[in-house]
Amino acid sequence: MVQHCCQDMEDSLKFECTEHADKFECADTLVTYNEKFNEYGLIIHDGGSSSKTIYYCSWCGTKLPDSKRDLWFDTLEKLGFDEPTEQDIPKEFKSGAWFKYL
Ligand SMILES: [Zn+2]
Ligand SMILES: [Zn+2]
Repeated sequence: MVQHCCQDMEDSLKFECTEHADKFECADTLVTYNEKFNEYGLIIHDGGSSSKTIYYCSWCGTKLPDSKRDLWFDTLEKLGFDEPTEQDIPKEFKSGAWFKYL
């Protein structure tokens, strides 16, 4: 389990909506945490699943952890996956489980 910076963040990331199955469809949801890249984002409600990466918590001001997006690509490349979005990558790379490769 990932520890978030504060209770407000914790509560905002917790998605409990009875009307929407997908948090990106729910206008009440503001933030998302991408475990795979260790990234926090503000959800952009444009009908898709886009979000804007944030670097500081909107509530407590804590600096959020560095994104591992580049490392994700680098680590996969070292393992021989040069097109990870197209290839069948190990399942650890679809969650935060791949951090153990670092
Ligand atoms: Zn916070
Ligand atoms: Zn909703």
